[in-house]
Amino acid sequence: MDIFEELGIRRYINAQDTFTKYGASCMGEESLRAMAEIAGSMVDLAEVQEKTGDAIAGLTQNEGAYISNGAAGGLMICAAACMALDSEEAYHALPESGTRREIILQRAQHNPYDKCIEAAGAKLVFLGEESMPPSEAELANAITEKTAAIAYFIYHGRDGSLPLERVLEIGHAHGVPVIVDAAAQNPPAENLWRFTQMGADMVIFSGGKTLRGPQDSGLILGRREWIARCRRWGPPTDGVCRCCKTSREAMAGLYAAVKVYMARDTDEERHRLLAACIRFEQTLHTCGFTRVRREEEGPVGQDFPRVLGEMPFGSAAWLCAEMKAEGVYIGSDERENTIILNPLMLTPGEVEEVCDTLLRCTAGYLASNRNEW
Ligand SMILES: *Cc1c(COP(=O)(O)O)cnc(C)c1O
Repeated sequence: MDIFEELGIRRYINAQDTFTKYGASCMGEESLRAMAEIAGSMVDLAEVQEKTGDAIAGLTQNEGAYISNGAAGGLMICAAACMALDSEEAYHALPESGTRREIILQRAQHNPYDKCIEAAGAKLVFLGEESMPPSEAELANAITEKTAAIAYFIYHGRDGSLPLERVLEIGHAHGVPVIVDAAAQNPPAENLWRFTQMGADMVIFSGGKTLRGPQDSGLILGRREWIARCRRWGPPTDGVCRCCKTSREAMAGLYAAVKVYMARDTDEERHRLLAACIRFEQTLHTCGFTRVRREEEGPVGQDFPRVLGEMPFGSAAWLCAEMKAEGVYIGSDERENTIILNPLMLTPGEVEEVCDTLLRCTAGYLASNRNEW
């Protein structure tokens, strides 16, 4: 009996997104093996953190890397590092913070994850409007001796924000570090070094999304001195960041995942994603959809294709619920009454299962409507 049978847990196919609540992604055998290997022995956790981090930094063209328990934990650790700098006293006082406790964020980028910055004891200072960036002068003037950092989310509010290049220039001209949240910004793999090479001090990625590491893993990539502070104040050190404990299994599993991610054949991956999109498009046409289109971006602007189909009958929400009942998660845009099919996490076999399920669900709808009629 496996764990699914023993506990009565259901399996799903994920044709929607790398959502945490669906499990986000599945690890490869390399990660599973690394985790099993390290789980059976005692280690010096700081040594595992340092060596996996150095290896990941090498693989991703970064000066340094720190492995956290997720991108959200990474935000908290980065915020704590910016407020504490090198002071034991300042770190251990958190979340009671001293005078340097403000972290600037553009209002358009406000999102549910920014609470993780406040959880460290920081006070967010919002600049600009919901759909309009502050002026560069406003940003420069907002930086005072109370400013610990500027936070920047790559996707949230991207149309209402100052560009990262300008924020980096202004922040650095005033001696303030910039923390970048790029949690879901893969593919392309180049994003793992793009923002740090632009000058960002610390750049955060989720380990459990497209990188296919353990779901409870994340990466902070960045400049050597900042990674040293993450190592110093991050878990297992006591203090606010202790609640971000990262296991040796997560560190080893993420290292193995990054190695696989960097070595993967991107042409082959592109081909697999396009083949899946073509299958989705054919299937939607067979199901009676007439408005089917390809989007060249992932849900948060990543570089991969998805397929959108406007419902020819019924509502997108209804079809999503129907597909879920059959064990398949798909996405929808309810304003446009459109379903969204995302091939990123699917094997070719799963693509066929998604297509079969779509045919079944829509055939049922057509049949029952004919009956009513
Ligand atoms: C998913 C996500 C996070 C949280 O990532 P975890 O690894 O699940 O902690 C943080 N920020 C952004 C922008 C995200 O998309």
